[in-house]
Amino acid sequence: MKLTPCTGNSGYSFNNAPRCGAKTRSGLPCNAPAIRNRMRCRMHGGKGSGAPKGSKNAIKHGLYTAESIKLRLEVTEILTSSKRLMKSLVK
Ligand SMILES: [Zn+2]
Repeated sequence: MKLTPCTGNSGYSFNNAPRCGAKTRSGLPCNAPAIRNRMRCRMHGGKGSGAPKGSKNAIKHGLYTAESIKLRLEVTEILTSSKRLMKSLVK
């Protein structure tokens, strides 16, 4: 077997790994190497368990939080009033 950085020193050999026991469409077990510390292979639910819980993915940049919307409105109001003031001073 060719040694790669993935297989060389990791201490985990796919040849000796436990085999996936998921039943395939042919009725036989899958027999692909199971994911580390799991009983199934990467194709049969061995990796991950779906999306992370909670809504931590909902907040990415904070552009639409109530706080930032309020800040933008205040800045717009200040700019508008200062433009109005400048116009009245020029005339
Ligand atoms: Zn499998």
